[in-house]
Amino acid sequence: MSSLAPSPEDPAVSMTRVEKVFDSGRSGAVTALTGVDLAVAPGEFVSLIGPSGCGKSTLLRLVADLETATAGTVAVFGKSAHQARLDQDYGIAFQSAGLLPWRTVRANVELPLELRKVPRGRRRERSDELLAMVGLADFSAARPHQLSGGMQQRVAIARALAEQPRLLLMDEPFGALDEMTRERMQSELLAICERTGCAVIFVTHSIPEAVYLSDRVVVMSPRPGRITEIVPVSLGERDEDTREDAAFFSAVTAVREALRGHPDHSAHHASSTVRGVDLR
Ligand code: ADP
Ligand code: MG
Repeated sequence: MSSLAPSPEDPAVSMTRVEKVFDSGRSGAVTALTGVDLAVAPGEFVSLIGPSGCGKSTLLRLVADLETATAGTVAVFGKSAHQARLDQDYGIAFQSAGLLPWRTVRANVELPLELRKVPRGRRRERSDELLAMVGLADFSAARPHQLSGGMQQRVAIARALAEQPRLLLMDEPFGALDEMTRERMQSELLAICERTGCAVIFVTHSIPEAVYLSDRVVVMSPRPGRITEIVPVSLGERDEDTREDAAFFSAVTAVREALRGHPDHSAHHASSTVRGVDLR
């Protein structure tokens, strides 16, 4: 990977002919991803959607340097994924909130700032701001086990945003939230992206969520996991009425058809070891 200084023109993420094969010992090799080409521009919002097992989480984990590609290249702001991790170029909010149970809510949110040796006063200011944003100002002294799953997820999102990263990697972050909270978090997330100019790769099972949030929706299919279609969404600035726009519905339909265009017949007939299609 090049060690040249990153330039402002570098894509947030650039994946070229990426393949990821898991060698699962006796059960053989699983091609989680193959032939993945994807570039995400700075400030762009891209969602990944597709049936369970199509490699969405694997794709994010490659960008986050939590897995290594078997072939192809993954660059983050023009650097190797590894260097980007060392430089803390991105924030992560994954499915399970992953909070430290012995720390208070506030201390969880402040963790990345502590690691960066941000002074206490500034940390406090920032965690106040973030906790207010996710509606948890009154819970700063609570421990994670005292919160509902949805509240824990909001803490994780606040933590991912603590350092105002240029890139956010989110794996079904709103899956555990009730519908009202979920829509509020979606709007908040877009407002944050607007403010900070951060790029997002966002995994979701929800077609309307993907459409509402994204500049482009990346549709994937499994066995082997690959990108089958990329649906551009041009809805302009989102507001209260966006979800009722005709343009919104036609984008939802376009994504649904892209998903249907590549039905995973094998999943319906395969053994119980294969995770079925669970698009909701
Ligand atoms: P998704 O997030 O789209 O549901 P994943 O990225 O989790 O899909 O998984 C893609 C495929 O790779 C699946 O078949 C899964 O079983 C397999 N897989 C994921 N992680 C591992 C691993 N650590 N070892 C072996 N196989 C894995
Ligand atoms: Mg997943």
